[in-house]
Amino acid sequence: MSVEENWFNERHDYSGSSIGFRVKQLLHAEKTPFQSIEIYDTTDWGKLMVIDGCTMVTTRDNFLYHEMMAHPALFTHPRAKRVVIIGGGDCGTLREVLKHDEVESAVQVEIDERVTRLAEKYFPELCESNSDPRAQLLFIDGIKWMAECEGETLDIVIVDSTDPIGPAEGLFNEAFYHCCLKALRPGGILVQQSESPLAHLPLLKTIRNAMKAAGFHAVRTLTFPQPCYPTGWWSSTLARKGVDLSTFRERGAAAKQFSTRYYNAEMHKAALAMPEFLKEALGE
Ligand code: SAM
Repeated sequence: MSVEENWFNERHDYSGSSIGFRVKQLLHAEKTPFQSIEIYDTTDWGKLMVIDGCTMVTTRDNFLYHEMMAHPALFTHPRAKRVVIIGGGDCGTLREVLKHDEVESAVQVEIDERVTRLAEKYFPELCESNSDPRAQLLFIDGIKWMAECEGETLDIVIVDSTDPIGPAEGLFNEAFYHCCLKALRPGGILVQQSESPLAHLPLLKTIRNAMKAAGFHAVRTLTFPQPCYPTGWWSSTLARKGVDLSTFRERGAAAKQFSTRYYNAEMHKAALAMPEFLKEALGE
């Protein structure tokens, strides 16, 4: 990561590329017990949150990621009452989940309270549902929380995590996915942010294999644009307990009673389509 001549650059050595934003000023920087967090004001992308040198959210494009982490799973499950978000401290995924009336409880399990406190200050629009009576914000390690979760009590688990290094490392393996499987009711869905199909293909394969090895019946990867992450193209991987993932509630999505900026039934269908190289690499 570097800031030169008012440009913040996230260098991605692994793929030999970088992503950059022109910044007006650094608004905040701190080191928490878990990671370093910076907030910038940019010239064109609103506020920018950076954790350990990696872009997390910008005001301008976070809707793509947050909507695609929440709505495909919620419009696949017939009626998700209990949803848990692991990570997601900026609260954008929580806001999208709570747009669904069928959700009776949404728990966000974020390890670092400072991420949420800074989101409240610099991204208030993402935190607008935090006071919803159905929302619960916990600040503990999601790995521990999931290991201790009572069996068959959840409908959807969304892993909205940082990259698999540091505190998030243990959120990407078979042992963690097994805990998620146990905590989900039959038909329940696990959603994992699964990085860039172009830059992180080996990791994407590892995630999918670990989900299958943990005992999930069906696994499906969706792709969508995300300008602020390496390569500008991102993915989420859904895994389902005991039921397949071949269909979603297309009519429900087409008649959704809330507003979104990216997600709709057509975009959901499009996200399920798989490019040739990915089909080949993932054996689909
Ligand atoms: N998906 C976004 C990205 O890839 O840039 C990340 C958004 S969100 C800010 C990621 C959050 O995951 C961070 O706030 C981080 O503190 C949290 N996190 C990392 N490891 C965690 C763990 N073991 N338990 C709970 N939260 C964790």
